[in-house]
Amino acid sequence: MEYTKKESSPERPQNPQQARPATDIRKMVQDDRVLALCELSGDLLFHKIPHEKIPRFVDGSLSAGREAAKAYKGKDMEALCAQKGIKILWKESGETRIGVTWRGQSAFGKNGCEITLVRESIRTLAENSTPLWDSPSGDDPLLSPQDALQLHLAHEFFHYLEYESNDPVSSRMDEIVTFQLFGWKRHAHINKCSEVAAHAFAKEAMGLPVLPNYFDYLYLVHTGKMTQAEFEAFLAHSQSVLNR
Ligand SMILES: [Zn+2]
Repeated sequence: MEYTKKESSPERPQNPQQARPATDIRKMVQDDRVLALCELSGDLLFHKIPHEKIPRFVDGSLSAGREAAKAYKGKDMEALCAQKGIKILWKESGETRIGVTWRGQSAFGKNGCEITLVRESIRTLAENSTPLWDSPSGDDPLLSPQDALQLHLAHEFFHYLEYESNDPVSSRMDEIVTFQLFGWKRHAHINKCSEVAAHAFAKEAMGLPVLPNYFDYLYLVHTGKMTQAEFEAFLAHSQSVLNR
C-alpha cells in the first residue's frame, strides 16, 4: 500500500520588512527560556545580575512554576479559586499604565483573598492573540475569551500559592548585590523571577504551546504599541544573551 502526503503551502502575503525567517522566530518563541528572559530583563535590578548567573535565574524560575503546576494540570481555575476561597471580582474597563495593559490585580491577606479582573482587558487579550508566524489556525486568535480568563486566573492562582506557602519564587532564588562599598553589601531579590514562574505555571497547568507572556507581546504588536521588528529584535537579543 502506498502512503502519500500532500504538502500544501497556504498563500500568504509576503512581508518585505520581515528581516528574520519565520522559522527562526517560531523557534525563539517556542523556547521558554527566551521568553522567560524577555520577562526577567524587565526587572528594575536586572542589570545587577552577573551575566554568568542569568541562566540560573531563568531555569530556576521556570522549573519552580512547572513543578507547582504538576498538581493542577487541566484544572478549571475558577473552580480552584472557589475551593481556596478566593473571590473573583470584575471591573468593566481597566486603566493602562505606560505601555502596559492593566488586566487585573490580586490581593491575598488574612482578611481574605480576591482577584480583580478587567472584562475589557481579558477580551482584548483574546482578540489580539493571533500568532505572528504561519499557524494552522491561520488568522484566528490562539486564545478564546474563556482561555484568556483561565490564563489570567492561573497566573494569579500561582501567586496565591506563593502567598499560601509564604515562599515566593523570587525569595528562593539567589540574592544579588545591588550596592557595595568597602566590603559592605546591600542585597535584593529579583521580583520578576515570580513572574516567570507564574507564566511557566500557567503554561504547564493549561497545556499552552508557549510561555504566556508571548500573548502580552502579541497584544502590544497588534495594537501598534510595539512593532513586529522590535519584538523580533527583543527575542533575538534574549536568545543571544542565553547563548553567550
Ligand atoms: Zn504576576
